[in-house]
Amino acid sequence: MEPKKRILILGGGFAGVDCTRMLEKYFQNRDEIEITLVSDDNFLLFTPMLPQVASGTVTPRHIVMPLRSLCKKSRIYELVIRDIDPVNKHVTLEGTPEKRGVRIHYDYLVIALGSETNFFGLQNVEKHSFTMKTLADALSLRNRLIDMLEQAENETREELKQRLLTFVVVGGGFAGVETAGEINDFLHDALNYYHNINKVDINVIIIEALSSILPGFNKKLVKFAHNKLEKNGIKILLDTIVSSFDGKIVIVKKSAKSTSTVKSKISIPSYTLVWAAGVTPVEIIKKSIFKTMKGQIIVNEFLEIPNFSGVFAIGDCSRFDESINKSYPPTAQLAEAHAKLAAYNIKQIINNNEKKKFEYNWKGQSAIIGKRSGITEVMGCTVTGFLAWLIWINYYLSKMPNLEKRLRVWLDWNIDLFFRRDISRYGFKRNVLKEYQELDEVDDVW
Ligand SMILES: Cc1cc2nc3c(=O)[nH]c(=O)nc-3n(C[C@H](O)[C@H](O)[C@H](O)COP(=O)(O)OP(=O)(O)OC[C@H]3O[C@@H](n4cnc5c(N)ncnc54)[C@H](O)[C@@H]3O)c2cc1C
Repeated sequence: MEPKKRILILGGGFAGVDCTRMLEKYFQNRDEIEITLVSDDNFLLFTPMLPQVASGTVTPRHIVMPLRSLCKKSRIYELVIRDIDPVNKHVTLEGTPEKRGVRIHYDYLVIALGSETNFFGLQNVEKHSFTMKTLADALSLRNRLIDMLEQAENETREELKQRLLTFVVVGGGFAGVETAGEINDFLHDALNYYHNINKVDINVIIIEALSSILPGFNKKLVKFAHNKLEKNGIKILLDTIVSSFDGKIVIVKKSAKSTSTVKSKISIPSYTLVWAAGVTPVEIIKKSIFKTMKGQIIVNEFLEIPNFSGVFAIGDCSRFDESINKSYPPTAQLAEAHAKLAAYNIKQIINNNEKKKFEYNWKGQSAIIGKRSGITEVMGCTVTGFLAWLIWINYYLSKMPNLEKRLRVWLDWNIDLFFRRDISRYGFKRNVLKEYQELDEVDDVW
């Protein structure tokens, strides 16, 4: 009997899950093919809705889908990948309760390990800021917003109250803009419960190093989004770079390209900084033997890693060789297209047929900017406002791979139309404000 052919997929994000599902379809009646998926979480996280979890519009559980329900025919390991050895064709995993390692051998490998937050070496920012990459990040941020409102409600010192109610979001890409829009909506909605805080006390600021937010979007749409965000009370600082954050004060300076005459550093008192200013590939890829550029694995037009036949890299963690003139921003849409082609090419190799090159039909893009408004670009047409928001929600609902979750998110959005946001904080805290515990001073408030 011929030995089984083992296909191993690393990463349970959009790219890894889509690829696994396609492979399951291709090989559904082939017992000699064994498919294994490894990820450090046992669910697929629907990242475009993370900011809505932070604002409490969508229930956390509703944007995650268990890998076992999506990839029913594959073997699944919920473990951390520690090492990829493409020479000996095995991968080492870690994370069992006894701290034993697990080694998995493969014949075909798909690396879909995504990316992590890039702090560009700003260690104090990394230490004190919030991020928006995982479900825990979104929940921590929601807790922080509620914490700040609770503290500010009874704060007697004006300058401290202002600092508590200033929320800085760094990064004007769609993760940053969507997060700022959601934070702003949540805070304003929650004010119904906080009688000592006025609308004008809330200060949400977007800081972007470039001279425009939402780079890559049509200029008309960017202008609409910029004006709308400002109309909703969000301040936008362009050509501005964050240079440090100690948990209390954000230090910013104008970028070299800025035409502003103010070049000196400015400090923004704030306890809450959300860092959405960039991503970098995961550590395990950076230290692998694969050839990388800016940390991403370089692939050929078949998405295969040169010199390692049968090994593919897809999604955020890969990029085409510079000689191939195909560079796209990392999106879920692109990860999905990569996944389809990698699965197809593995099928072709196994069946001794020709592989296909990557062709990508960009379908458009969409972002929401708060207060049920958005911007959308689709097939050369541009849409703004409520209609764009409707397109966004329908598009992303249709992308959810599971009817039950689709229905639950749809219900969340509808319930949000009629009721106030819930301001109860979940039972865990992050970045507790230690200075409040030290009690240097006591205010007489009663
Ligand atoms: C807040 C936010 C909003 C976004 N909004 C949009 C949007 O509206 N539209 C859009 O197209 N894109 C959006 N994106 C980008 C989109 O999420 C990514 O482009 C997409 O997730 C890339 O898919 P991927 O599979 O390559 O990586 P990921 O989805 O990041 O998946 C990588 C997987 O690998 C796992 N992993 C990593 N390291 C290890 C390890 N050592 N061991 C085990 N497992 C590991 C991770 O846990 C994860 O499951 C958004 C991203 C964020 C953060």
